[in-house]
Amino acid sequence: MSAAQPLLTVDNLKKYFIRTKGFRKRVIGTVKAVDDASFHIDPGETLALVGESGSGKTTLGRSIIRAIEPTSGDIVYDFGGTKTDLTALDKRELKEFRRHLSIVFQDPFSSLNPRMNVMEIVGEPLVNYHAVKNRRQLADRVAELLDLVRLNPQYMARYPHAFSGGQRQRIAVARALALNPKFVVADEPVSALDVSVQAQVLNLLKELQARLDLTYLFVGHNLAVIEYVANRTAVMYVGRIAELGDTDEVFRNPLHPYTEALLSAVPKGDPDAARDRIVLTGDPADPANRPSGCFFHPRCRYAQKICREQEPPLNDFPSHGRQHLSACHFASELSLVGTGRGEPVAKAEARKSEAPTNRPGENGAGEKEAPITDG
Ligand code: SF4
Repeated sequence: MSAAQPLLTVDNLKKYFIRTKGFRKRVIGTVKAVDDASFHIDPGETLALVGESGSGKTTLGRSIIRAIEPTSGDIVYDFGGTKTDLTALDKRELKEFRRHLSIVFQDPFSSLNPRMNVMEIVGEPLVNYHAVKNRRQLADRVAELLDLVRLNPQYMARYPHAFSGGQRQRIAVARALALNPKFVVADEPVSALDVSVQAQVLNLLKELQARLDLTYLFVGHNLAVIEYVANRTAVMYVGRIAELGDTDEVFRNPLHPYTEALLSAVPKGDPDAARDRIVLTGDPADPANRPSGCFFHPRCRYAQKICREQEPPLNDFPSHGRQHLSACHFASELSLVGTGRGEPVAKAEARKSEAPTNRPGENGAGEKEAPITDG
């Protein structure tokens, strides 16, 4: 992984949604879905965004490719020394720049158009961006992409319903890679999949990253998955980054009580390992009506008076010369518990399935495939 210039730098990014009521659309509040997010992503790395639902991770993931229009902030991509502020692009420039960015959605059952066959689905970006000149070239490129995600190109005339969940997600990945993007947002790409095929899709994403020199932002809520795929992890709570650092550091030595609580729910690879799960009381704070001081204080077992009164800044507590940010007044004083020594479940599962994945209809090893019907 390069330690050169970040591929993406996000500064003070905000995404607010206005809440309205009634026929006259009277403004009744502002949902601060993402509030003042600043971070960078280095070329070739995977940064994970994790948090409970409503934490703003998906909104943030989509805002940085302007799939959702941010309210304010800077989103600067640096592709080989050429810097582009995504927020400054007009519609035509944005469309042109988007060929470098891509997204894989959570649910391959709804993200693929059931009326289009695989050739049309995977080839659509190539047609929209005039990246190929004729149908023969299109078919060749689609075949190449299917091969890349280990699907048999001979099935390109078939429709999504003929494929299993894992295969559909491979089709979605092939489509996402059609224009040779440099940066991919993977928005909970395995959450909708059967546990038995999750590891295979994760391995595929990792393999493609190494092969195609991709940079990922991986949005997820399963910490075992995050630990397996991410170089660095950002933990979000109510629209703010609560903690950010190297994944190993965040998992072994968390510096925020919210991270500690999330980690306590991660299954241990060692069944004999002690499990002291921290049960968070109450719901996550409402981003339209956030608590005073630290937003986490109503659920935090370490909360003190200052936590109710002053919002903690996101400070750096470097470890081994590497950045480790935490927004907690007591980050340097608390001895928080990270994951144990056992091997995480996702890692063990992934290792088991690192054998080559077979194509649909071949041998029967690898992913359990849904039957592929003719027509
Ligand atoms: Fe808990 Fe206080 Fe730290 Fe917030 S600032 S996480 S309430 S200890």
